Order: sequence, then structure tokens, then C-alpha cells
Amino acid sequence: MTRVLLAEDDTAIAEPLARALRREGYEVQVHGDGASALAGAQDGIDLVVLDLGLPSMDGLDVCRELRARGNAVPVLVLTARADEVDTVVGLDAGADDYVTKPFRLAELLARARALLRRGGPEPTATGRVRIDVDARQAFLDDQVVQLTAKEFDLLRLLVRESGRVVPREQIMREVWDADWYGSTKTLDMHISWLRRKLGDDAGQPQFISTVRGVGFRFERDA
Ligand code: CA
Repeated sequence: MTRVLLAEDDTAIAEPLARALRREGYEVQVHGDGASALAGAQDGIDLVVLDLGLPSMDGLDVCRELRARGNAVPVLVLTARADEVDTVVGLDAGADDYVTKPFRLAELLARARALLRRGGPEPTATGRVRIDVDARQAFLDDQVVQLTAKEFDLLRLLVRESGRVVPREQIMREVWDADWYGSTKTLDMHISWLRRKLGDDAGQPQFISTVRGVGFRFERDA
């Protein structure tokens, strides 16, 4: 059973979030203050979802203290302030990822899944497509597909998340390292190049489906 520790003192956030995490099949323990979250995170926890503004001990201090004790549990930070982000995910505090409040539940759950997967092997194959992460090569029916660096990163992400919609903003952040401010024309161009290289038909795609207003999904069986 995957165990998630949720540290959030605002019950209006904690309760629905805990419910959503449980629906994902995780065992969830909720802590409303920093000191108890730190104590709870010692024991067999697979993921910490950590609000920064917590009573008794600030979320950043909880994270620093976990790392100082050699605890490598993945930490996903919830922050209301975009300007805190550098401190949070930088070496300073040692968090692994963040979601800014107000967050979309689907995005938070996707990040949680991604962090939990880091502990296990990355999915690198679908029906006909296979990724060799170390060699940075992609194969279609065991034939090498010639990709640029960005195309490779994009395909790797989509294959890793195959069967799920990957939101545009997540793709922009993971592949282009960029915060997303609206235009994702670059992404659309890369999707179209990838489709072409995979022999996919944009009108009737079998590999990469466009999910309008959200993002893209690589079909797991394709
Ligand atoms: Ca709070």
C-alpha cells in the first residue's frame, strides 16, 4: 500500500485532498501541524504533500529537517506564493516538486503519481513504441526513430504517462523548463513533428491524442 502523508492545516483543503488521494488508492494520514508531520514522516511514508504555512513548524523547516536527517522521501510542496518556489525546490529546502494554490486536483494527483514513480522503474514502452532512456533513443517497431533532443524529452514524458492526459502546462515545465503563460505553439509544433515521425495521422491519431483544452495523451496500447 502506498502511504501518503498530507501536512495541511486548512481543513477546507486537507479534507477534499485526502479524499482524492484515497480514491487514488493511497493510504493517507493527515497532519495539521509541522511538528507532527515531521514525526509522522519518519515511518515508511512514500510521499509527503506539504503545505508551507503550518502551525508549530513551518513547512520549509519540516522539509529541511527531513533532509538533514537523511530522509529522502519525495516531498511535494503546496505553496500559495509563486515567489517562494525557488527556495522550495532549490537545494535549500530539498523539496522535489511544488504545486501553487489554488491548484487543480488533477494536476496535483499527476505530480504525486510522478514522484511516487521515481522510486520505481519509469514506464518506457507502449505497444509499438519503446524508449531507451540511457541511450536517449526511441524505437517504433524496433526501428530507431530519429528525434531531436526536445522531441525525445516530449516523447519520453508522454510514454511515461501513457494512458493519461498530460496537461500542457506540465509538458511546458518538464520539457521546456518554462512556466506556462498561455502560448504553447512550440509544443503544438513538436507534437506535430512527433506524430509525423511516428507515422501518426493528426486527423485520426493512433499514438498521440489531443485532449482539447487540457493537453495530450499517448495511447497505452498504441
Ligand atoms: Ca496553511
